[in-house]
Amino acid sequence: MENIFRELEKMLEEDGHQKVLLPLLIPEDILAVESEHIKGFEEEVFWITQGGNEQLERRLALRPTSEVILYYMFRSWLRSYKDLPVKLYQRAEVFRYETKATRPLLRVRQVYWNEAHCVHLTEEECMHQVMKAIEFYEKLFREICALENLLVVERPAWDRFAGAERTFALDCYIELTGRTVQVGTSHHLGQKFTKAFGVRVKLPDGSEAWPYSNSYGISCRVLGALILTHSDDVGLILPPRIAPVKAVVVPILYKGKEEEILEYAKEVVGQLQELLGSAVLDTREERPGWKFYYWEMKGVPLRAEVGPKDLENRTVTLVRRDTREKLCVKFEELGKAKDILEDIQRNLRERSKKMLENAIKLARTMEELEKILAEKKVALVPFCSTNLEGKECAEKIKQQLAAEVLGVDLRNQKSAAGKRCIVCGKPATVWVYVAKKY
Ligand SMILES: [Zn+2]
Repeated sequence: MENIFRELEKMLEEDGHQKVLLPLLIPEDILAVESEHIKGFEEEVFWITQGGNEQLERRLALRPTSEVILYYMFRSWLRSYKDLPVKLYQRAEVFRYETKATRPLLRVRQVYWNEAHCVHLTEEECMHQVMKAIEFYEKLFREICALENLLVVERPAWDRFAGAERTFALDCYIELTGRTVQVGTSHHLGQKFTKAFGVRVKLPDGSEAWPYSNSYGISCRVLGALILTHSDDVGLILPPRIAPVKAVVVPILYKGKEEEILEYAKEVVGQLQELLGSAVLDTREERPGWKFYYWEMKGVPLRAEVGPKDLENRTVTLVRRDTREKLCVKFEELGKAKDILEDIQRNLRERSKKMLENAIKLARTMEELEKILAEKKVALVPFCSTNLEGKECAEKIKQQLAAEVLGVDLRNQKSAAGKRCIVCGKPATVWVYVAKKY
């Protein structure tokens, strides 16, 4: 998770974001300033009501997200158009009272995340940033986490972030269970929060304006999605770009040659560290087979075995984690390890891309939709509306099939002209994805 956040923060900082650390506790009256926002979080907030033995006069919320804390400060920080745009992010924990059964990494009450918040002078700039955030997340998920099983959608009106005008989301499709995991969101908040908190700026002509704002975030759910996508029966397979240990060297000690083999293994690990940035030598007193299994389970992308024959010929046996193929290389050719890691990254991306390609199926009737969901796939269906008038149809899908309308594909919008809503039969205006969710 550390490596994933670091990659993201590099992108955010290059884009001019500054890191902040915000308070964890929010007084009730501040949380209630934006009415839709508090309503949306009402059932999810943890409250602190007591300090020591004393009852508190005002309840304090454990932040479910940080918008209100920031806007409270923006009112004094932002005075002029010259103060804009402002782009901030924090890596922190937020708390949400989940009433459904919790699941490790996917549905938790203490969420470890990275949230960013920006304020812009114009709506156009603000929306541009909302889209830019999606691009950062796509790059992070696709290229770095090798999660190409990714749907990028605009959420329907009934599923927006509390207080947002538009919400965009990235959902990861999990082949194993046929469910999707929301791994990132980006929200256009319009002027709702700046107006609610009285954040106004002076324009060059002396008049005042309400600026526009947005927020976006990803959480430890991405790690859950990554484990569910890239594992096999043996254990985890980590994409090399985020693996904390890129390679492990396991010496296969042979009676009478222990010292020599160990010396050679040290030479190999030194070379791999230099080439890959990180590699470890496993000298624990266990059998080599036990060590192979141990590091495979941990998902380390590459294993280097060094035995008596390797010592004799100055070779190394490389085993890649994804395909478990073996390759014997000369010590001088260890540079190939780098190519193998790149190939593993490529392979994991390909695999996850295929998972999604195989999963998306068109449904024209509720029966077809039911069948697709039962086969653990994602359905693309014609739908009446993603505005509030479509909510009833979405509710029916939820009640009958325990699945949800994820939204409209942001990258690939095709015309629904001539089609009819799969639920109510009215003329369809959009194609939406329907899937079971975590
Ligand atoms: Zn409908």
